[in-house]
Amino acid sequence: MSLYKPETVQCNGETFSIYLTEEELEERIAELGKELSEKYEGQNPIFIGVLNGAYIFLSDLMRSVEIPCEVDFLKLSSYGDEKVSSGEVTDLKDIDADIEGRNVILVEDIVDTGLSMNYLLDKLEKKNPESIATVTLLHKTEATHHEVQLDYVGFKIPTLFVLGYGLDYAQEGRNLAQIYILDEEDQENE
Ligand code: 5GP
Ligand code: MG
Ligand code: MG
Repeated sequence: MSLYKPETVQCNGETFSIYLTEEELEERIAELGKELSEKYEGQNPIFIGVLNGAYIFLSDLMRSVEIPCEVDFLKLSSYGDEKVSSGEVTDLKDIDADIEGRNVILVEDIVDTGLSMNYLLDKLEKKNPESIATVTLLHKTEATHHEVQLDYVGFKIPTLFVLGYGLDYAQEGRNLAQIYILDEEDQENE
């Protein structure tokens, strides 16, 4: 399969440069898959992906897990078309699966302020699962001010806007095969 992975990319008139390559993503996701396979052996966990951003990460992560498992999705409102969080979370779609007594692995693309992950954990805990673990591909450590349980983190990143590999900027850029970051000067000039 040939993948879309330019050196730099223009999105909505702004320039983004490569931050995490396909190889770096593959290697880290294989490690996460191995850890999850060992931890959940014999438990038939259910992955819950947060749409839209987590769909590509989740599909690669699940295929790196070598034990029986299931998948479902939910959807939250997100950034809208902006590069900063709206500070509000609303539900757009709930899961269909019954997760009572199940071992849940909640999968996000990125944790920024922590608001969404915090909200999701509260929401899923009310459905009485046996356990919930969280996985996020990216964590903006310095931006997180909501208290949040993060069990598996792919990469810790600075507080800069990123796109690609499922993450969008005003809905564009999700099909990029790698993670791109907004040039720091551009971000500071806003
Ligand atoms: P939080 O609720 O933690 O502030 O933000 C979480 C959500 O905001 C993420 O799931 C993601 O959809 C979006 N988000 C946060 N930072 C970025 C970013 O740098 N790039 C993109 N494309 N989305 C982001
Ligand atoms: Mg997300
Ligand atoms: Mg978005």
